[in-house]
Amino acid sequence: MALLKPPSLSFPQPHLPKLTSPPLNSSSCLHFITSSSHSPFTEKHSTIRYQRDSWAFKNQLDPPSSFPVPPDSSSIRDYDIALQLPELKKMLQVLREKRESNGVGERGERKVGDVYLVGTGPGDPELLTMKAMRVIQSADLLLYDRLVSNDVLDLVGKNARLLYVGKTAGYHSRTQEEIHELLLCFAEAGATVVRLKGGDPLVFGRGGEEMDFLQQQGIQVKVIPGITAASGIAAELGIPLTHRGVANSVRFLTGHSQKGGTDPLFVAENAADPDSTLVVYMGLSTLPSLVMKLMHHGLPHNTPAAAVERGTTPQQRIVFAEIKDLANSIASAQLISPTLIIIGKVVALSPLWPNSSKDASTLVEAGQI
Ligand code: SAH
Repeated sequence: MALLKPPSLSFPQPHLPKLTSPPLNSSSCLHFITSSSHSPFTEKHSTIRYQRDSWAFKNQLDPPSSFPVPPDSSSIRDYDIALQLPELKKMLQVLREKRESNGVGERGERKVGDVYLVGTGPGDPELLTMKAMRVIQSADLLLYDRLVSNDVLDLVGKNARLLYVGKTAGYHSRTQEEIHELLLCFAEAGATVVRLKGGDPLVFGRGGEEMDFLQQQGIQVKVIPGITAASGIAAELGIPLTHRGVANSVRFLTGHSQKGGTDPLFVAENAADPDSTLVVYMGLSTLPSLVMKLMHHGLPHNTPAAAVERGTTPQQRIVFAEIKDLANSIASAQLISPTLIIIGKVVALSPLWPNSSKDASTLVEAGQI
């Protein structure tokens, strides 16, 4: 495990954007890390992540003596912060010094770093774009969330820093605002900052919010698209999302509603179209109710469907079923998040779709393909 080395400080881009709003007060940078017992960087069981992220000790048997592992899980967040804060601060400091020594530009402007919003696809690293590869390998700091696969993280340059800022259902780490602030702090200090997002950053990825915030601070964000789960998984299963004479449109739907927001299933009425394909993201918990509504609004009970857990990765599992049996089949296979659901006649065009209707509910594991 390398690291605890200064970050890579090469900023080869000749035309960095001008910072048009006042730079963030440097003392306010990272203030939230010290002012709270919660951290955006932590998960309940983060030791393994730290090992992967090179943030902490070389191996579990060799923790630094200044940070003894806390005995109980309630203090794990404070522990996480204690581990990461000095490194974050050091990195920021090095970046700022480098920036100061480079002085100001000809027109008196301070150079800010580049911020990239990068889609990493559904998991298989070979589904990354060449642009994403290039940016990932040249970043100083990368913030990633839960859907970014280990194989993709393995491509990160050895001098870069990785921070986990993901949210996990039932355990929402700190807020989107803190992620915004981190991106801003480091960009303002001149770093090349990469925000990695699973799939495509602009499909159910909150990429728009991060872009909007940074643009309001005068920082331009470059977006590098990724293969969204629907495309990656449909390709893996051999399902054409649209197909002449079978489905003339495709619709991406979220099964989640923003707290207090409108029920996302209100769309069921006009989504119950047998000539269209429906792809449901984040749909596991609301699926039984969605399926009931779709059938109630006229979608035939025998409409083919597939639910795919961890698609395009070696752990991929697929459940095929007609929609009337889909919820039960998913429950008995115990699929967990992330799972994508594809509903529509096109599903039966997959070479993996069971031939006889009595076998319509089937579980296919990755090794069987
Ligand atoms: N921006 C992402 C979507 C984020 S929403 C994209 O474009 O793909 C998160 C949801 O995406 C998950 O709950 C799941 O429904 C779906 N998803 C993402 N990656 C997946 C994968 N490898 N396998 C199955 N579902 C996936």
